Amino acid sequence: MDNSLLFYPLYGVILGVPLILYIRREIRREAAVKEAIAKGQVFSDGPLGQHPQIDITNCIGCQGCTTVCPEGDVLGMVAGKAALLKPHRCIGHGMCADACPVGAIIMVHSPPGVSANLPFMTPELETSVSNLFIAGELGGLALIKNAVNQGRDCIDTIAARLASRQGGAVDPEVFDVVIVGAGPAGISASLRSIERKLRYLTLERDSVGGTVSKYPRQKVVMTSPVEFPLAGSFKKTQLSKENLLAFWKTICEREGFQVQTGHTVEKIYRHPDGVFTVSTPTAQYRGHAVLLAMGRSGTPRKLGVMGEELPKVMYRLIEADHYVNHQILVVGGGDSAVEAAMGLAIQIGNNVTLSYRKDSFARIKERNVKRLREVVKSGQLQVIFNSMPVEFKEGSVMLEVEGEVREIPNDYVWIFAGGIAPNDFLKSIGIEFGPKDLTAEVVGEAGRIHAMAVGSRG
Ligand SMILES: Cc1cc2nc3c(=O)[nH]c(=O)nc-3n(C[C@H](O)[C@H](O)[C@H](O)COP(=O)(O)OP(=O)(O)OC[C@H]3O[C@@H](n4cnc5c(N)ncnc54)[C@H](O)[C@@H]3O)c2cc1C
Repeated sequence: MDNSLLFYPLYGVILGVPLILYIRREIRREAAVKEAIAKGQVFSDGPLGQHPQIDITNCIGCQGCTTVCPEGDVLGMVAGKAALLKPHRCIGHGMCADACPVGAIIMVHSPPGVSANLPFMTPELETSVSNLFIAGELGGLALIKNAVNQGRDCIDTIAARLASRQGGAVDPEVFDVVIVGAGPAGISASLRSIERKLRYLTLERDSVGGTVSKYPRQKVVMTSPVEFPLAGSFKKTQLSKENLLAFWKTICEREGFQVQTGHTVEKIYRHPDGVFTVSTPTAQYRGHAVLLAMGRSGTPRKLGVMGEELPKVMYRLIEADHYVNHQILVVGGGDSAVEAAMGLAIQIGNNVTLSYRKDSFARIKERNVKRLREVVKSGQLQVIFNSMPVEFKEGSVMLEVEGEVREIPNDYVWIFAGGIAPNDFLKSIGIEFGPKDLTAEVVGEAGRIHAMAVGSRG
């Protein structure tokens, strides 16, 4: 017998054992990642508007995605692979997808159960009403850059449709597009309309800048590089609210952007010939297409508490430094409430209480969690969980804490209980709600929505 044959089993052991160990480790890793994904969804009620989706087979475990997210631990490493830990914290920056060197992350919309509260939209951002589009936060996708991209893309679609039916008589009374709202989405859409030489009309109920103009003074706005119509690439990633508004003002003035402020759109009707009538309390306008860029903040939600009509009760804080030496109550458990409470607490002589009806903050940003801890530790702010105001009086507030009502001295109250989205308004136009077309729910790079096949943050 050939002695070399004796070595074959030995070769088998040398090669086979590491292979078996490797396969077993990989199987265990995959199981651990899957378990973490499931846990993350259970503990967080699942994702809200959008979230990263990880292809764990392709993930190389480089941790590029977990270190770039400004919202904290949306993603984490489990058994050497990226896993979705706190999807509800994702607001669509998409930096994880951009950072992944192997394209193993795409941004997707929330599952059907969540999007049931959002208007139905096609990949082109068209609603169930033909030629009626939605851009920005109204469609469920947060962030300035997404609003800018979507506003721009909608106008491109509208321009292409108008161009394809050139030849008919042009009615000078009918605008090519009526844009409702002049926040980031509406500004971007209006500038793109100018660029594309469309006859556009922009109606804004309040002031240009939308939610950005309502941020607290000197708030640092975090954004990602974005292609802004007529201004080219906007590369700043951190700037003050004032600087961002000044940037928009400069471009809008330079390009001759016309906006009708103080015009609240109350009704939209699509005639059988496809032309829309858009009504404000004082005027009616007609358009071949309508772009709703109204945001989702709608009207602030009230608590329905006695004394809420007092002028000291407010729903928005812009100038925290205007309030010094006061007894202040802030109500709410989201980032807006926490940021307002911290902003007021650091002003001279203020005594600030933050009241929240639940027993912990579940949905606030990681950086706010850390800062809040410091402000509370320094004694500038008191947080009372499991509490609810039950009456606002001239000089005090009646606060129910775990079933017991106590009276605390008070000069000002800020309530941050969210906004009532304009869903009834959308339904009155005929827009359907419900799950998006699942073949088209991928949010591509820079927040554009692509068909599922395209595969790619916000
Ligand atoms: C406190 C806070 C901090 C934030 N920080 C950041 C940040 O750092 N970075 C970031 O990228 N994003 C941030 N966001 C999110 C960002 O502001 C929004 O995603 C973005 O403003 C959405 O733009 P939009 O144009 O869709 O809507 P909006 O900005 O809400 O603008 C909508 C506009 O439509 C108008 N409108 C509404 N209804 C009507 C009507 N019926 N008729 C006429 N006009 C109407 C409104 O008056 C408003 O001007 C923050 C949001 C909040 C609340």
